Amino acid sequence: MEQALGNQLIEVRRNLHLEPELSYEEFRTTEKLRKWLTDADIRVLDLPLKTGLIAEIGGGEGPIVAIRCDIDALPIEEQTGLPFASKVPGKMHACGHDFHTATILGAAYLLKNREAELPGTVRVLFQPAEETGHGAESVLESGGLDGVAAIFGLHNSPDLPTRSFGTRTGALTAGVDRFEITVQGTGAHAATPENGVDAIVTAAQIITSLQTIVSRQTSAGEPVVLSVTRINGGFTWNVLPEIVELEGTVRTHNEEVRRIIPDKMTRIIEGIAAAAGAEAKLHWYPGPPATINDGYWADFTKEIAQQAGYEVYDIPPQMGGEDFSLYLQKIPGAFVNIGTGPAYALHHPRFDVDEKALLPAAQYFALLAEQALVRLKEELR
Ligand SMILES: [Zn+2]
Ligand SMILES: [Zn+2]
Repeated sequence: MEQALGNQLIEVRRNLHLEPELSYEEFRTTEKLRKWLTDADIRVLDLPLKTGLIAEIGGGEGPIVAIRCDIDALPIEEQTGLPFASKVPGKMHACGHDFHTATILGAAYLLKNREAELPGTVRVLFQPAEETGHGAESVLESGGLDGVAAIFGLHNSPDLPTRSFGTRTGALTAGVDRFEITVQGTGAHAATPENGVDAIVTAAQIITSLQTIVSRQTSAGEPVVLSVTRINGGFTWNVLPEIVELEGTVRTHNEEVRRIIPDKMTRIIEGIAAAAGAEAKLHWYPGPPATINDGYWADFTKEIAQQAGYEVYDIPPQMGGEDFSLYLQKIPGAFVNIGTGPAYALHHPRFDVDEKALLPAAQYFALLAEQALVRLKEELR
């Protein structure tokens, strides 16, 4: 029975892996999930979601908890050579969301078997568009999480070996913001820079000075990463261009620190540009905030992981992003990492997961959801 479910979940994961879909295009994936759930007699909620879905198990007066996975893939050409590698050119489940989906589907099957014993309701959330950083917003707007008292989510970890588990209280992933900077100078012949305003030298000074925000203007106790990841300017060797564009990202854990960074950047960018006689502008594109785990529920996930036989680790905070953070701003809960490694990093074209981690992860999430209901019910007493 257990072996059969394990094999079934591997089939599910490989099926999804073969046919990856990008953010907000997960129509086939959503249809497959709808079928797998309804075939198992699990009710799918009628919600205004374009892609993704929420199913429900249990009912009655008791509390409601939610378990969440993400279902989207990435615009990456797969290079694993696996027999079930992506058959869609340029698209790949390179973040393991196929593993997450199979895990939570498996948990739904296991919870369905215990539906009569559940002291409440479990909402099973298959979220679209995590990779955009905004997929959680559409789920919150759909009303599908209304009334939920605690929420849990997972990411696979290629850094943790199979059968190990990691989480922490407080910030687990970072706030992720994107920026663009345009530096406007005046073009000139490379031989006579005095006749123009050099946007390239100005951009170079801006790039270097921005690092002083990390090293001199924020506390060493508060992690900040500022990375300039793109420079665009010029088209040949003997002309100074008029415009240089920069792009990059800022990662933070503390919302206060996050809030003051754009002002500090603007001061540097505009000040250096003014000194050079150029003009420069910052464009800021906010992404998801840091994932802040509730201490009570983070401890609870570790307790259940221990019961489930995982090797449990308190892991350090990460600088990557995760839009599960948006749920945690509204609903208490915790985000956890399930070991699937060692393997290539997330988003690598050779990324893969250890499928042996799949059944235990499904069993863990079923146990976690049921035990959270029990705990919530005790509290209500
Ligand atoms: Zn990802
Ligand atoms: Zn991911």
